[in-house]
Amino acid sequence: MNSENARMPALFIGHGNPMNAIENTEFSDKWKSLGETLPKPKAIVCISAHWETYGTAVTAMPHPKTIHDFGGFPQSLFDVEYPAPGDSELANEIIRKMGKIPIAPDLNWGLDHGCWSILCRMYPQADIPVVQLSLDRNSPPSVHYALGKELTFLREEGVLIIGSGNIVHNLRRVEWHNPGASEWAETANEKIKELIVSGDYSSLIDYQQLGREVQMAIPTAEHYLPLLYILALQEADEEVSFFNDNIVMGSLSMTSVMIQ
Ligand code: ZN
Repeated sequence: MNSENARMPALFIGHGNPMNAIENTEFSDKWKSLGETLPKPKAIVCISAHWETYGTAVTAMPHPKTIHDFGGFPQSLFDVEYPAPGDSELANEIIRKMGKIPIAPDLNWGLDHGCWSILCRMYPQADIPVVQLSLDRNSPPSVHYALGKELTFLREEGVLIIGSGNIVHNLRRVEWHNPGASEWAETANEKIKELIVSGDYSSLIDYQQLGREVQMAIPTAEHYLPLLYILALQEADEEVSFFNDNIVMGSLSMTSVMIQ
């Protein structure tokens, strides 16, 4: 498919367990089919829960390394390399065009598992350049949402923007043997989905006011914030749809969002 001058969809993907990178699950199967069916992007910008900084940064190295930022997983997961090239020209364009918000070029990070565990299933050939944009720890949710809006121009240039996190993400409440959802997790996930469907993004920015279940679902912001970047990209003529809409291990929702 020719992606020149077409507006690319934007995705929020629940990444969950890093083992999805090497195991065939219903989630990783969906990532694979997305890679096969979406227009092939010119480049990918990924906002991952696993890269938090003070101030916002964008990776600008030609060959980002694969970062194995986890512990206690089999060697076969540490052996995964995702050798996609970087794109320093794209990084510089983002720095230039983002205007109001200063963004620093980064030459040290690379691709963390929030990014590569998904991309190694979507685009196993690793032939599409990837840059990561970090999450500024100092910024409130409203600023993350505003930053997402500033990325809009990229979609018209054939760039696929992916936010990678989890809507419900509470590792302290994980129930290892529960294949499904805790009641509170289900309530929180449904509440957030309803607000997405109704387009009530200001309530989603003020997620801390959404009650006890949502507070349990989002004990720390980093897995939730990438969703705000993607919602901010929705244009008036676009629809929102969900995929991988499941909760696993009681407290982890894989619910993912496509804007198209
Ligand atoms: Zn994660």
